[in-house]
Amino acid sequence: MATVDIRDVRKAFGSTKVLHGVSVSIEDGQFVVLVGPSGCGKSTLLRMLAGLENITGGEIAIGGRVVNNVPPKDRDIAMVFQNYALYPHMTVFQNMAFSMKLAGAPREVMEREVQKAAKILGLEQLLHRFPRQLSGGQRQRVAMGRAIVRNPQVFLFDEPLSNLDAKLRVQMRSEIKELHQRLKVTTVYVTHDQIEAMTMADLIVVMNHGRIEQSGAPLELYDRPANTFVAGFIGSPA
Ligand code: ADP
Ligand code: MG
Repeated sequence: MATVDIRDVRKAFGSTKVLHGVSVSIEDGQFVVLVGPSGCGKSTLLRMLAGLENITGGEIAIGGRVVNNVPPKDRDIAMVFQNYALYPHMTVFQNMAFSMKLAGAPREVMEREVQKAAKILGLEQLLHRFPRQLSGGQRQRVAMGRAIVRNPQVFLFDEPLSNLDAKLRVQMRSEIKELHQRLKVTTVYVTHDQIEAMTMADLIVVMNHGRIEQSGAPLELYDRPANTFVAGFIGSPA
């Protein structure tokens, strides 16, 4: 587990500025939801936490260590994307074990960790299947399984439910929350869906045009929105 400190982080692609100085302090074990309209810079910020984008200005620290120049593989984070990106030619077991295999883990460690994650996610009966033989929800669980087996300090989710139908989305929301309550791993979860934000977050960070409009607990934002944007976005009267 770890704290995540985002301090005055800026990002430009060439001459286009997309983050204008974003600061968020995340406590150990917190579930933080970054919410905001499409194009406001959520994925860019998440990718910077993962080390997939360079930082133009400011600082990111994970567990108190500044990671600006630390490559993704040395950050102890695991990321779940919206298009699960499972390997189609590998079984569920192989998909989940892949990162451990790359790291040279012994067979019995891979077996143990995959079984443990499969039990948590209800995938025990599906380990021999290929991704094409799974439902959307099952694929999403495998994607989470791949993240869990790495025992990361921080989970990063980028709109993980946006490809699922409404009913499954509601179910997966509570599954992800249960998972968090169980593992208590610091989580940064990106969505453009305010209901997801309101129901899942310990802390909501509302972004707009590369800036933070307001951050706070769900009820705090609902009761005391800082401005009309937040009020409109969260859905309460201004
Ligand atoms: P969100 O995830 O909130 O929808 P993004 O972080 O994906 O937003 O994008 C924020 C802005 O940065 C958008 O205007 C997008 O077009 C721009 N952007 C993202 N990635 C790149 C890139 N690699 N090169 C140029 N512009 C980019
Ligand atoms: Mg995005």
